[in-house]
Amino acid sequence: MSNCNMQEAKICVAIDGPSGAGKSTIARLVAKELGFLYVDTGAMYRALTLEALKSGVNLNDEQRMIKLAQESKITLGFDQNNFLRVLVKGEDVTDKIRQPEVSRYVSYAARLPKVREYMVSQQRQMAKQGRVVMEGRDIGTVVLPNAEVKIFLTANQFTRASRRQMQLAKENVYVDLEQLNQEIATRDYLDSSRITAPLVLAQDAEVIDGSSLSIEQVVELIVKKVKSYGKHSFR
Ligand code: C5P
Repeated sequence: MSNCNMQEAKICVAIDGPSGAGKSTIARLVAKELGFLYVDTGAMYRALTLEALKSGVNLNDEQRMIKLAQESKITLGFDQNNFLRVLVKGEDVTDKIRQPEVSRYVSYAARLPKVREYMVSQQRQMAKQGRVVMEGRDIGTVVLPNAEVKIFLTANQFTRASRRQMQLAKENVYVDLEQLNQEIATRDYLDSSRITAPLVLAQDAEVIDGSSLSIEQVVELIVKKVKSYGKHSFR
């Protein structure tokens, strides 16, 4: 269980929401502003999916997938510009995990209960000291149910697909908008309808619809909310 606890000044910020809502960019900026650790939990499921595709492990084979998760030694680090780097057994796979093929299959890997159990324990470990901004699908509901600040970040589907297209273009990956639209809808469906830890709105989460807000506006809203706890010192 998370150690997020106000009395111990261990503030945790949980950001959940559907694909392409801007969670990664926003969570990273919020963490930077507050001097908190940023954890992108989707990157962990993506790294495992990449490994499975590379080594030919069947994504439905839970036993082999859990073994692969343990062997892959997935770690999250930061480069000198404070950008997230994802490592698998020491190899930098940051770019590879964003490939469309990984996006297409990641929700299948992420629905396996034992894989989730393993990932969740790693994620809680990362949040142990507090001062963390963690984003994903089940952070406010399962990983850090005691998080002091819970945000459910969403945006309309067209906005999400076009933002994802722009983000991929920056990484020199070009995907047709209609195809992205379809993929996002499928991933949302799989993530929201799975039995274990589906994407649902935590009762105590604040919903932010970022469709007509700039990234800066959303970041400001969240930072304000965290700072309103007031008792804590921020870098
Ligand atoms: O956030 P991102 O789009 O990179 O996440 C990729 C996939 O990883 C999601 O579509 C979802 O299937 C899975 N995921 C999850 N739980 C999380 C984070 C991501 O199931 N906490």
